[in-house]
Amino acid sequence: MLRLYNTMTRSVDQFRPIEEGKVGLYACGLTVYNYAHIGNLRTYVFEDVLRRVLALDGYEVKHVMNVTDVGHLVSDADTGEDKMEVGSQREGRSAWELADFYFEAFRKDMARLSLLEPDIWCKATEHIEEQIELVRGLEERGFTYTIDDGVYFDTSRLKDYGKLARLDVEGLEAGARIETVPGKRNITDFALWKLSPGGQKRQMEWESPWGVGFPGWHIECAAMSVKYLGDHFDIHCGGIDHIPVHHTNEIAEVEALTGKTWVNWWMHGAWLVLPTGEEDEREESESVKMAKSGENFITLDLLIDRGYDPLVYRYFCLNAHYRSPLTFTWRALDGAANAYERLKNRVVELKGSGGAGSVSESHYAAFRDALEDDLNTPRALAAMWGVVRDENLSGADRYATLLAMDEVLAFGFEKMEAPEVVVDEEVERMIRERDEARRRKDYATADRIRAELLERGLLLEDTPEGTKVKPCSSR
Ligand code: AMP
Ligand code: ZN
Repeated sequence: MLRLYNTMTRSVDQFRPIEEGKVGLYACGLTVYNYAHIGNLRTYVFEDVLRRVLALDGYEVKHVMNVTDVGHLVSDADTGEDKMEVGSQREGRSAWELADFYFEAFRKDMARLSLLEPDIWCKATEHIEEQIELVRGLEERGFTYTIDDGVYFDTSRLKDYGKLARLDVEGLEAGARIETVPGKRNITDFALWKLSPGGQKRQMEWESPWGVGFPGWHIECAAMSVKYLGDHFDIHCGGIDHIPVHHTNEIAEVEALTGKTWVNWWMHGAWLVLPTGEEDEREESESVKMAKSGENFITLDLLIDRGYDPLVYRYFCLNAHYRSPLTFTWRALDGAANAYERLKNRVVELKGSGGAGSVSESHYAAFRDALEDDLNTPRALAAMWGVVRDENLSGADRYATLLAMDEVLAFGFEKMEAPEVVVDEEVERMIRERDEARRRKDYATADRIRAELLERGLLLEDTPEGTKVKPCSSR
């Protein structure tokens, strides 16, 4: 029985689809003005697990993800530049080229993290008609007003505005210091269609009934998810930063139009955060959100450049529950790298144990139970290690069980190979020296040489046929 946390109800509830055996899943995609940072990628790892668990439970999942290639402004208050225009100026290429480039870079990151691609990718710039239609519908129903800046949604007209975030709209109103967009009636009102600033030509702009301009960020996800999943579907997800503004406003747009509940399940991944100050001195509470600007911008490429297997990052993410903040440090990543390396070595050994095995029901049930319990991946990983370490189970059975678990873990157990051992002249000389030391019973020297080789990732094994060299994981 799958239980999932729903941000709307603030509780873990038994998942029930709208239509038997099917799930419509919408995930807010990347704003493609830069590489994804590993914080963004943490959210996509969580969504990948969700999708794989739903599939494991037998659901036919229709997974839709948008590509935000226009309209996401630097500020959530409908002011500031479009992030795409900012990126375009930064890199001296057109907003269109920028979008193509970073979309492809994102897909490459997804592949490297074993993230399944959605069934449908949808770009905001390719769905302008649908977005205009939605704004027109809202206008007909009296939810909009037009000011010099564009068409705005009048949040005071919707009685349950802000229900997802449980916003205290009056409190926000009272606490507001400046009115950011002249003419905006309520602090929570937001742009549906922004007009291109007078006299300026934007790189991305379109004709509309209200004048030349571009869609607001929220209308994009609202229009495209309704197009591909209908006006009532199962799950919508993103990172927790989307709760108070982006998802709140998407809900307002669709529910104002249809007058009924739009999405049954809202799921949000907690942030990847960075410690502030020195790694050794910091308090747990001192942390900052990873962002796409400044020193805090860590990409998957950087991890790879520093010698990490990208799947180490997947392992690192799975080791925390998706609703708990996760602090990134290089030291913590090293911990994941060590564990992952050990896992790889054990999997390769078990694979080599031969014979057809069968899945251990008890271990597999522990694994499934963990995942069905609101995607508890740390417990699922513990169940996986339980198999690796279970000496009562044959190697073949252990390997078969791990393969079954890999449907969700997606570490690619089947393709794992023993790393190549490079025995160069120097290593050969060291092995000879150690053999000689052992012959003259100088065990101190023999042990020292063995430890030195271990440091280099080479494990010596003394067998009746002589000394053998194996790769080892004590990095
Ligand atoms: P964006 O490219 O800003 O539209 O964000 C893409 C996805 O990453 C969204 O679902 C965000 O909620 C999520 N996200 C942004 N920053 C973080 C972070 N530091 N940790 C986890 N998820 C994040
Ligand atoms: Zn969205």
